Amino acid sequence: MKKSTEKIIKIGYQNITLIEQESTFQNSFDSYGEFDHRKNTITISKDLSDLDYSCTLIHEIIHAVCYYYGLTQNGQPLDTENKEEIVVNNISNGITAVLKENPNVLKDLLKKLHNVR
Ligand SMILES: [Zn+2]
Repeated sequence: MKKSTEKIIKIGYQNITLIEQESTFQNSFDSYGEFDHRKNTITISKDLSDLDYSCTLIHEIIHAVCYYYGLTQNGQPLDTENKEEIVVNNISNGITAVLKENPNVLKDLLKKLHNVR
């Protein structure tokens, strides 16, 4: 039996349902997570380490940003799955490493982003 919990993440104009599932995925391109633009969902395996969960969530959010901001459309920089995956994977790994090694960066950003008028 699968247990899952749901949360909402706003990405661009869309509300994305974040689904954390206990089981692993069978038909997904990413082994730990999946962004589905048809269902407006990001599904992540609950059984990951905190580091893998964080990196996977950032990875899938970047996929969604690329999709909703048009970067994956024909003629745009990420218009093939291969290009998109290479860019998304390297950026998500890089951002995860920066945030992991510099916890004050995330704290400062949170403070500043919520002071924006
Ligand atoms: Zn991916």
